[in-house]
Amino acid sequence: MPELPEVESIRSMLEKRVLNKRISKSEIIDIKAIAKPEPALFGKALLGRKILSVGRKAKYLIFKFDDTSKLIIHLRMTGNLIYIDGSSNLIIKSDENGLPRHARVIFNFDDGTGLFFCDQRKFGRLWFYGNGENYTSCGINRLGPEPLSAEFSEDYLCKQLAKTQRQVKTVLIDQSVISGIGNIYSDEILFKAGILPQTRACDISDERAHLLHDAINEVIAHAIKANRSSIEAYMLGASEQYSDLEDMNVYQKAGKKCKICGAEIEKLKIAGRSSCFCPNCQH
Ligand SMILES: [Zn+2]
Repeated sequence: MPELPEVESIRSMLEKRVLNKRISKSEIIDIKAIAKPEPALFGKALLGRKILSVGRKAKYLIFKFDDTSKLIIHLRMTGNLIYIDGSSNLIIKSDENGLPRHARVIFNFDDGTGLFFCDQRKFGRLWFYGNGENYTSCGINRLGPEPLSAEFSEDYLCKQLAKTQRQVKTVLIDQSVISGIGNIYSDEILFKAGILPQTRACDISDERAHLLHDAINEVIAHAIKANRSSIEAYMLGASEQYSDLEDMNVYQKAGKKCKICGAEIEKLKIAGRSSCFCPNCQH
């Protein structure tokens, strides 16, 4: 599942390619992908709109148009946006209709290029909000501050941890507490901070909470930089993966040796999610 760093990389790649392009046609292949408005109105609403900016809030992508209307996309589990300019030599796996695999919505631009919203597991959603319309129904107003933002202070994190007995892993992936972190980066953050994922949040001292705060910002900042090249390939349809999983220390490394101490990485289920950690480096 794409997390904040992957969505930020996708945003930055899109910005380079679709800015100032006008939508000449959109085609809905799977109406379930459209959360708002009615699918029949969606295409009409977007027709002729020019993209003025590509923004992001946590894991949401926000396209702003020339009439201040907005298209908001949440990729969820397996959603992706593939850009096709007609001159790409990259291998794009296509279905029997010649479309990229799992294409759900297609946007054609007036210069002949196109953007495909593809989604194997079909959890991703698109919302269109007209000029001046309140756009909170997509859930964007329920998000906590994101890492690297001014609102995400050490003090904020200490208070959030102190008030709950939930396990710290669960708190890190709660979008209403901190937005943008999922299963991959919560594992990596806890490894960097030296904290076991099952630790009760309220048992974490302020001193360790400060280490955790630093780890959150450092891991996310590093991942945003590290992801760029693999996302580029993914967006052009040449790669199967968003991020370079080889670069990870513990995520999906159960049974492998810890890169720091050589101990075997272990795995636990926490709130239904697998959580990998080093029993020696984390306590
Ligand atoms: Zn270790």
